[in-house]
Amino acid sequence: MKSLIEIIGCIDDYDPDALAVDQARAVVRAFITPVTTNERIALRAGLGRVLGEDIVSTLDVPAHDNSAMDGYALRHADLNAEGETVLRLAGSAFAGRRFDAAIGPGECVRIMTGAVMPDGADTVVIQEIVQAEGNEVRVPAGQKRGQNRRLAGEDLAVGKAVLRAGRSIGPAELGLLASLGMAEVTVRRRLRVAFFSTGDELSQVGTPLAPGQVYDSNRYTLYGMLTRLGCDIIDMGVVRDDPASLERALKTAAADADAVITSGGVSVGEADFIRELLSRLGEVVFWKIAMKPGRPMAFGRIGSASFFGLPGNPVAVMVTFYQFVRESLLVLSGRTDDCALPLLRVPCTAAIRKNPGRTEFQRGTLSRDAQGQWSACPTGAQGSGVLRSMAEANCFIVLEHERGPVKPGDLVQVQLFDGLV
Ligand code: AMP
Ligand code: MG
Repeated sequence: MKSLIEIIGCIDDYDPDALAVDQARAVVRAFITPVTTNERIALRAGLGRVLGEDIVSTLDVPAHDNSAMDGYALRHADLNAEGETVLRLAGSAFAGRRFDAAIGPGECVRIMTGAVMPDGADTVVIQEIVQAEGNEVRVPAGQKRGQNRRLAGEDLAVGKAVLRAGRSIGPAELGLLASLGMAEVTVRRRLRVAFFSTGDELSQVGTPLAPGQVYDSNRYTLYGMLTRLGCDIIDMGVVRDDPASLERALKTAAADADAVITSGGVSVGEADFIRELLSRLGEVVFWKIAMKPGRPMAFGRIGSASFFGLPGNPVAVMVTFYQFVRESLLVLSGRTDDCALPLLRVPCTAAIRKNPGRTEFQRGTLSRDAQGQWSACPTGAQGSGVLRSMAEANCFIVLEHERGPVKPGDLVQVQLFDGLV
């Protein structure tokens, strides 16, 4: 396990007071150590979990050659190259009930979708183009050898690597595991994430608001984001801005959890005693990231838990979560596939002021005009305290580090909330 100092030492132009978003991401990625403990659970309970072992097929799926259509199974060699062919109907094959004999020269078998191909037959002709009368079946010219036949092992072949450990189990993976007959699946244990809000001004929902207080909303956005990510959560409430309470909370959180997330208390005015505290409890760096919103952030490790000290402003909490914490927690939980959020390029309908030298995450709406053309537009007020901008938006408009102002019609990159929140 590398120390934070060693990792940071490998980064060119490391400046904690003006750290590029990509540099911060690289440090976070390099520092975290994924969970490796597995548990075996019922197949359906595996939905959304991280696969804990490689899956190698023990079966051919399908187990036999079978028909892809309702029609007639025949031997392609029996068909006349030109003009129709008259074949003799020898019997029928249904899904789950096969035709037991082999078909001989000039014979065919009525076959249903999914039924096992009779021995000798290599081709299926769909019923709609065949003329059947009594035991006579007339097949028109122009049939291709092997048409409408699914081959044994076409989906999965014995010995084939089907799924790799470290990928997320979605509906398709559940079905694939079921098609191998697996009633249970081995998954990584769930990640335990502890979080709390800091601030003397914070009030709890359901209680009256005293003058100068604000309701603690960050614990609710964090609850939502962590729950959707599939973490086991430990909600530690609000902790006052005093060193003894914070020390107690951080120690408890780190002892119980794989990751600890706090909001507030990392901005310049407040950071001094937290900085001193964290340097005693673990290895933590303080960053001013070249991004908007969400500049101040602390990152490191307390005991064996990863630590993310997020800013206090409600929008900054969500942006830093999605840009740094989300992927880190996925890697920590054992994911080995690429978990980065896709960026799509669309025209922007409005001008946006922007200076080169920081990455901006504007809240935007992606919508479609009457011609079906997608475009993005920033939602109104973009202040980092305006949580409404997140609720009104359906995407981030991501303006890259080097980029200057945006003119209407310029292409911008967007990151969709759907599937992410
Ligand atoms: P801080 O980073 O602690 O200086 O907080 C920055 C701003 O975010 C202040 O206006 C705080 O009142 C606000 N804030 C901090 N924590 C929360 C919270 N949990 N819920 C809502 N607003 C918060
Ligand atoms: Mg504060």
